[in-house]
Amino acid sequence: MDCLFCKIAKKELKSDIIYEDDLTIVFKDINPRAPIHLLVVPKEHIGSINELEPQHQVIISQMILVAKKVAQQLGFIDKGYKLVFNVGRDGGQVVDHIHLHILSGGYARSLAEI
Ligand code: 5GP
Ligand code: ZN
Repeated sequence: MDCLFCKIAKKELKSDIIYEDDLTIVFKDINPRAPIHLLVVPKEHIGSINELEPQHQVIISQMILVAKKVAQQLGFIDKGYKLVFNVGRDGGQVVDHIHLHILSGGYARSLAEI
């Protein structure tokens, strides 16, 4: 399958990797919309929130736990951060492999701007 984030997860394409475990990989967004802008991506291909099934419960909860772990490791857990799932074109989703945006770094803009 010709999927950008599958290729990044398999390291067939280069990315700035921050964290990795059996289920997920976290890397820097190539076009950051905040001083800190990371993407939590599962290694398994899931198109979006709309494709989630009960068997994905472990993966989806791991993505959120990993976001917290990275916030702790990078030292912005106490300052705060925003977690965003874009779903579908009207939701701003461009890459059709589910991902959780982590945004942080001294901004408090409205959701519409990200
Ligand atoms: P979406 O709009 O689908 O929720 O978010 C996709 C994100 O992936 C965007 O913020 C975009 O900047 C980022 N992105 C797209 N292509 C690449 C890439 O090749 N490498 C990295 N690191 N990020 C990418
Ligand atoms: Zn994929």
